[in-house]
Amino acid sequence: MDNKTKAIDTPFEKHDAYGSLSMPIYHTAAYEFNTAVDMADAFTGRVIAPDYSRVMNPTVMYLEDKVKALTNASNVVAFSSGMAAISNTMLAISATGKNIVTSRHMFGNTFSLITQSLKRFGVEARPCDLLNLDEVKSKMDDNTCCIFLEIITNPQMEVANLAELAAIAHEHHVPLVADITVIPFTQFSAKNLGVDIEVVSSTKYLSGGATSLGGLAIDYGTTQGFGHRMKNEMLFNFGAYMTPHVAYMQSLGLETLDARYRVQSQNTLYLAEKLRTLPEVKRVNYVGLPDNPYHAIAKKQYGPTAGAMMTIDLESKEACFSMIDNLKLVRRATNLFDNKTLAIHPASTIFGTFTCEERAAMDVLDTTVRISVGLEDMDDVFSDIKQALKA
Ligand SMILES: *Cc1c(COP(=O)(O)O)cnc(C)c1O
Repeated sequence: MDNKTKAIDTPFEKHDAYGSLSMPIYHTAAYEFNTAVDMADAFTGRVIAPDYSRVMNPTVMYLEDKVKALTNASNVVAFSSGMAAISNTMLAISATGKNIVTSRHMFGNTFSLITQSLKRFGVEARPCDLLNLDEVKSKMDDNTCCIFLEIITNPQMEVANLAELAAIAHEHHVPLVADITVIPFTQFSAKNLGVDIEVVSSTKYLSGGATSLGGLAIDYGTTQGFGHRMKNEMLFNFGAYMTPHVAYMQSLGLETLDARYRVQSQNTLYLAEKLRTLPEVKRVNYVGLPDNPYHAIAKKQYGPTAGAMMTIDLESKEACFSMIDNLKLVRRATNLFDNKTLAIHPASTIFGTFTCEERAAMDVLDTTVRISVGLEDMDDVFSDIKQALKA
């Protein structure tokens, strides 16, 4: 069955008593049992049945089942945010004395999670240039617990070779963990590229227009004990499971994901081509552009479309602020892959609490504006950006 069909027609585990066409929202904290034995079976995991919504809820399980059907993963766990999925994954894999080989090019909070929060528990971050395989190899040792990366970095838009990094990770018997938020898992198989565990901020493409926060940890069963630990240790002890109402909205979002993604990717390429004709725009950074340095590797790994995130570089920080202030249609907001087109100056916002030196080390430039492209008519969006640049 095609992914487009699975996203819509994956059946519920149990037929609804009233034949509800949508997955009902099971807005409940707990579940009642007929007997003490049934209760004991559920609590000890002998029978898979929800007992408490911190760890299992039918509406959330339905979203997890759909994602499982779409990815052929062994285990999928839905979390209350992308950061919850990432932090729980890291906590499940790492321990005091372990190290994580990763990049400096990373979502701001993930970078501070690894370099600051985990550091307090004795986990070492080993940032390196993931495009330089010799450097990656030199960072690996017996205490390395994973290689972690983002598949197109934000905002640098760098694409590393997943199969080569997977080979290095697997030589050391550790997983390659990838944040695949920027290209939906319906578009490519990260597993076939050697990725063992995927984390996703489902706040972005999946939520169907910035409806809610959510995260997913998707595991292909290649990391011993990981799936079991996520369900039986992390959810129980850290408690960041997705809520049923969010799972309902994100299941609906998943139904329209393919259609929205295709249009938004086309829109982004169209807008990128038009923006590069403007003299105020010094550079358009989008891996979908054929002359982008990462175009070939992105196409090979992620397929013909390149997502809905681009950046543009202007003359100065002042030019960026002026453009953002003068937008009339495009929204001044963070977030990615909303139905609306959004603009943000990453250096002063997402990376605003890092020092200038730290930003420089991460290649986060003062002259960059990030644009997340929506579903509007792109001639309208282009006209708005053009007038904002000239204002
Ligand atoms: C947004 C984002 C996150 C964090 O997700 P939240 O749902 O906001 O917690 C992590 N990684 C990437 C690549 C993101 O874009």
